[in-house]
Amino acid sequence: MNEINALTLDIEKDGWDKKGFVMRKVPAPVLDEAKDPQDALSVIVKVKYAGVCGSDRGLWNRVAFKDLVHDSLQREGKTQRINGHEFVGEIVEMGSMVKSLYYDVDPKNNAKIEVGSLVSGDSHVTCGRCYQCRIGESHVCLNEAILGISTDGIFAEYVKIPAKNLWAVDQSRLRPEVAAIYDPFGNAVHAVSTVDVRGQRVAIFGCGPVGLFSILLARHFGAAKVIAIDIDEKNLAMARTLGAHETILIEKKQKAHDWEGDPEVIARIQELTYGKGVDISMEMAGPFSSVNNAIDATRRGGHVVIFGIKDGDLTIPKFSRVVVRGLTLHNIIGRRIFATWQVAQRVLNDRTNGVQDAIWNTILKGGNGTVLDFSSFTPESFEVAMNAHPKILFKIQD
Ligand SMILES: [Zn+2]
Ligand SMILES: [Zn+2]
Repeated sequence: MNEINALTLDIEKDGWDKKGFVMRKVPAPVLDEAKDPQDALSVIVKVKYAGVCGSDRGLWNRVAFKDLVHDSLQREGKTQRINGHEFVGEIVEMGSMVKSLYYDVDPKNNAKIEVGSLVSGDSHVTCGRCYQCRIGESHVCLNEAILGISTDGIFAEYVKIPAKNLWAVDQSRLRPEVAAIYDPFGNAVHAVSTVDVRGQRVAIFGCGPVGLFSILLARHFGAAKVIAIDIDEKNLAMARTLGAHETILIEKKQKAHDWEGDPEVIARIQELTYGKGVDISMEMAGPFSSVNNAIDATRRGGHVVIFGIKDGDLTIPKFSRVVVRGLTLHNIIGRRIFATWQVAQRVLNDRTNGVQDAIWNTILKGGNGTVLDFSSFTPESFEVAMNAHPKILFKIQD
C-alpha cells in the first residue's frame, strides 16, 4: 500500500476560482519516528465513515477559509490539502508513546486507544503549550490547526492523526455512521450546555445539522419550549419531527441591507412567548440578519448563543439595545476537549432517550441517499447529495 485515494484541494492545480475537491492518489501515511519523532505520538487510522461539514461546503464553494488554507500550505511548503475533519475509523498502527500516554487502564472502560479500536476525534489539533491550552481551554488554542483546512484532513482511506485528538468509541453502543459526526454533534452539545436551558423558552435560528442537533439537545436537557426558525420548509419539518414545539418559516425578501432582521418572525416569537421574547436564542445559521433576529427575539436579561460563522462586517443597529436590555452574548467555537465529548457520549450511547436513533432516522434519513460511496465519488453526485440533505457522509471503507 504505497498510494491511497484522498479528496483534495490543490491551490495551484485546481486554483481558488474553480470550485470542488479532486480525488487524487496520495502517498499512504506512515509512522517513521526516525524521521519525525512526533510520530511517536500519532496513530494511523483506517477511515470508515467521514461526515461532510458546513465548512467543507464552504471550501467546496470557495466561500470560506481562503487565508487559512493558503497560509498553512505555504508554511508546510506544499500546495495540496487533504480535506475533511469528521470521522470514525479503526486504529491500525500506533506510535511508540501512544499506549503509555493514552490507553486507559481502567478495566471498566471498554473504549480504548489501541490497535483495532474504533475512534472518532476532535478536528482541532491544539498546541498544548499556549496560555489557553495550559489552563484547560484548548478549544481556543492560540496555535490550533484544523483538520482538512489548516492541516491535512480525513477524506482519505488512511490518515495519520495525533493520538491526543482521538476519542475511543464503544462500538456496541453507537452506530459508526453516527460516531462519524461526533464532532459537529459536539458543537451542539457545547452550545446548548453553555446556558441553562432547563424550563426555558429557546429559539433556534437555523435548522442545518448543528441547529437540528441543538433542538434534540434542548429538549433532552429540559427546555420548556423550543421554537425553530429556518428559510426551508423541509428543514422545519425535520425540526418538528425532532421535537420543536413551534416552527417559523422565514420568507425570503428584498432588503436594503443583508443584516436587516425579519420583523414578522420576531412578532411571531413574541406571540408564542406571551409578549416576553425567548429566554435563550441560538444563532446556528450564519447570515447577519439571523444575528439581529436572535438579539431581537430574546427577552430582557436573556442569553444569545452565537455559533454560525460569518465573514465580513456585521451591523448590529442600535447596539445600545443589547446593553440596555441586559443581554448576555456567548460565542461558541469547537468543543471543550474532552468535557464536551464526554457529555456527547452519554447522550448518544443511552439508547432509551431516542437521540441516536433520531439522528440516524431523521437527520441522516436512515442512510437513504445520505451515505455516499467514497470510491465512486463524482463532483456531480456529491453536489446533488449535498444540496438534497442537511447532512451527508462518505462511506470510505469497511
Ligand atoms: Zn465540522
Ligand atoms: Zn494551544
